[in-house]
Amino acid sequence: MSCNVQVKERTGCINPIFTCQPCGSQFVSIGIKDCIGIVHGGQGCVMFVRLLISQHLKESFDIASSSVHEEGAVFGAVKRVEEAVDVLLMRYPDVKVIPIITTCSTEVIGDDIDGLVLKLNKGLLKTKYPGREVHLIPIHAPSFVGSMVSGYDQAVKDFVSYFAKKSAPSGKLNLITGWVNPGDVTALKHLLAEMQIEATVLFEIEKFDSPIMPTKRVVSEGSTTVEDLTGTANALGTLALNRYEGGKAAAYLEEKFGIPTIVGPTPIGIRNTDTFLHNLKKLTGKPIPATLVRERGLALDALTDLAHMFLADKKVAIYGNPDLVIGLAEFCLDLEMKPVLLLLGDDHSGYPKDPRIQALQEKVDYEMKIITNADLWELENRIKNEGLELDLILGHSKGRFISIDNNIPMVRVGFPTYDRAGLYRHPVVGYAGAIWLAEQMANTLFTDMEHKKCKEWILNVW
Ligand code: SF4
Repeated sequence: MSCNVQVKERTGCINPIFTCQPCGSQFVSIGIKDCIGIVHGGQGCVMFVRLLISQHLKESFDIASSSVHEEGAVFGAVKRVEEAVDVLLMRYPDVKVIPIITTCSTEVIGDDIDGLVLKLNKGLLKTKYPGREVHLIPIHAPSFVGSMVSGYDQAVKDFVSYFAKKSAPSGKLNLITGWVNPGDVTALKHLLAEMQIEATVLFEIEKFDSPIMPTKRVVSEGSTTVEDLTGTANALGTLALNRYEGGKAAAYLEEKFGIPTIVGPTPIGIRNTDTFLHNLKKLTGKPIPATLVRERGLALDALTDLAHMFLADKKVAIYGNPDLVIGLAEFCLDLEMKPVLLLLGDDHSGYPKDPRIQALQEKVDYEMKIITNADLWELENRIKNEGLELDLILGHSKGRFISIDNNIPMVRVGFPTYDRAGLYRHPVVGYAGAIWLAEQMANTLFTDMEHKKCKEWILNVW
């Protein structure tokens, strides 16, 4: 019995788990207030990503494209970025932050975005927009390396290193959430509030679960301000929940400004939420209040009702963002389930050395496989042709056809999830997230047993 980490053996990719780096960088950008990114590439690099994010969050938001065409692809297209910056500034008087996110084509062309930013800072901004606060930030996101996950990590680091400036200590905590949903942000803020901790929640997308108000404004935007980003250098500590989605920026703040830093664990499940609260206590000195002990108790109670009776020994395949997949696998193990296949959609060199993966390798007493650089065919092929038996799939909506075609129940989790209502509203982190996830898994299995006319369940009076 073992847990192997192996790279997908095939070259090429059938039904990718991730999209490309600019997607992650765009997801970070929408968490900033008064910010509209310019994606420097073909229009599809924005159109498809924007659609994906909008389908997931069921909201609209602004993002621009330099809209590179044939001529630019051959002769270079920095001129189009120059024009795009000018148009954005003319059209949106409140915009302050403009990340310029490159793509595969413009990185191959070799467009000098950093040089262009220097030029615009000295030229256009001084002559046409004197006195206006504008920040142009180059973010290099070629898609032929990494994935949307590394694109997220890089953008967080680029924004933080651009803005962070040392001044008086703020007494606040930096919380880098990683790639989460509005519901997760609400849950995390709740835990912080219960502990009376003042924190800067970075790249904060809670407002993407937005009301329809009398003003009828339909465009959502993030809540992290320029001041929040500048103040990251003066925090009493940084807590990055995800190693691969914010870990770089946390390391930067520690190295450059000596900010005490803790990275992970992703607070999925009771055990990891406990560690999260203890880490908050370690960094701030604030005690864990009785109210959270009660919330923990409620979660334990809910899980105890389900784990041994219904979830134990259920075989699960999990795919998606690495921190999420690892957190879900740890949670499943705590629920006595058997995550048998973990699919990580890129080949990050840090995976084999990840202490959480190493702990899984030491802990599991059955056959578990962790495939890196994986695609969804790895899952489909194992089910169809290699006899993999599963009780449940956990992953984003792109894998739903595997669930439908093979009659395996599935809980949608991760990004993107667009074929179930309101998922962005429900947290997977914290004690509330543990309850929600466990109950989703149990209810999905119950429904499946009804579909399959399982007598044991139908006659059950639990
Ligand atoms: S792979 Fe390249 S061309 Fe395609 S969307 Fe991503 S950045 Fe654009």
